[in-house]
Amino acid sequence: MKDLIGISSKTYEIYEKVLPKISEEFKQIDNICEYNNAKMMNAFFDCHVSETHFNMTTGYGYNDLGRDVVEEVFAHIFRAEKALVRTQFVSGSHTLCKTFFALLRPNDLLLSITGTPYDTLHEVIGIKSNPSSLKSFGINYDEIALVNDDFDYDKIADYVKKHQVKVIEIQRSKGYSTRKSLSIVKLEKVCKLIKQISPETIIMVDNCYCEFVSEKEPIEVGADIVVGSLIKNLGGGLANNGGYVVGSKELIDLVGESLTLPGEGADVGPSLGANKLFLQGIFMAPTIVANALKTSVLASAMLEELGYMVSPLYNEEKVDIVLTIGFGNEKALIDFCKGIQSGSPIDSYVSPVPVSTPGYTDKVIMAAGTFVQGSSIELSCDGPIREPYIAYLQGGLTYDTGKIGILKAIDRLISDD
Ligand SMILES: *Cc1c(COP(=O)(O)O)cnc(C)c1O
Repeated sequence: MKDLIGISSKTYEIYEKVLPKISEEFKQIDNICEYNNAKMMNAFFDCHVSETHFNMTTGYGYNDLGRDVVEEVFAHIFRAEKALVRTQFVSGSHTLCKTFFALLRPNDLLLSITGTPYDTLHEVIGIKSNPSSLKSFGINYDEIALVNDDFDYDKIADYVKKHQVKVIEIQRSKGYSTRKSLSIVKLEKVCKLIKQISPETIIMVDNCYCEFVSEKEPIEVGADIVVGSLIKNLGGGLANNGGYVVGSKELIDLVGESLTLPGEGADVGPSLGANKLFLQGIFMAPTIVANALKTSVLASAMLEELGYMVSPLYNEEKVDIVLTIGFGNEKALIDFCKGIQSGSPIDSYVSPVPVSTPGYTDKVIMAAGTFVQGSSIELSCDGPIREPYIAYLQGGLTYDTGKIGILKAIDRLISDD
């Protein structure tokens, strides 16, 4: 293998050294994968998924049976009343945006309890000014930071007692920050607290990167509405784009009206050939997430061995598929990303460079030699070019190919030039 992929003996030795210790972790990942595959198959059985559901609609998209069954399957998996799973959602960020606009009205208050939200939401909320932001429509926003990588329970309780909060947003995955991602246990604790004080407050979860990493999903522990991207975990590497949102019928109907138009809502929106890919994608997703996690565990163990700061450590609890790597300098960050690109199936011969990206403040370097543009369930690595030069590594559709990408990246990192 070493010669075929072109890596040094030194890199291969580090790989062999960490193998025994990561195999214990793989067993735990396999156990969760087994459970989530059962959960997924149970949804396919109960929803009577059939070959006719691979058909598509065009135009308005009335009576799209395939689209409806995709949404039933998603709702079933999440233990939700209803789901919207649409190609008309451009991305996870767009789905989050449409959900905010669906739930909030002028003078309402939106509160983030996981500090400043993901970069692409700054202009949506109006943290960074934009004439089309929630703020421009008179929607108020406030945030409470995390403390020691956990919710600030006392401050949240106090705030919810004193203010009428319409929507609370919780971002589970770390985004481009240095904090840890938030486990389902912590999510359960904070949902209970909020619902005790203010049962009418809507708890909305940004679930990007967390799906199928644990045995439970947010609605099972008290969230009202959950949003994510289909070019991450649940697209299973097959969805070409899209987003999903799951929750109560009442809330999801509002999101439908915000996505299309009042009066037609979720009843319109052609699937345009996505139904089979969405079904096969969610079918593959538990296994693909497990493979991404194994790729991440390998990278974590090898990079720790080399003295880099990694989070989570290879044997720490997994909440999402993201690994943060502290490189400390620009060159190492860029070298690693170049190595990942060179170990990708698509565009392995090109070299990524940091560029300005819409929705992000700093220049970003992105290694994504992927079948679907920007897909981060496929092996990908990116990071904003700012102190302390952290890379965010995620994905790997199969462990065996993810491993090749990791070995190439580490080889590039430790080579002298
Ligand atoms: C990726 C991500 C998003 C946005 O999803 P896109 O599909 O890239 O727009 C939002 N929140 C978090 C935490 C993410 O990781």
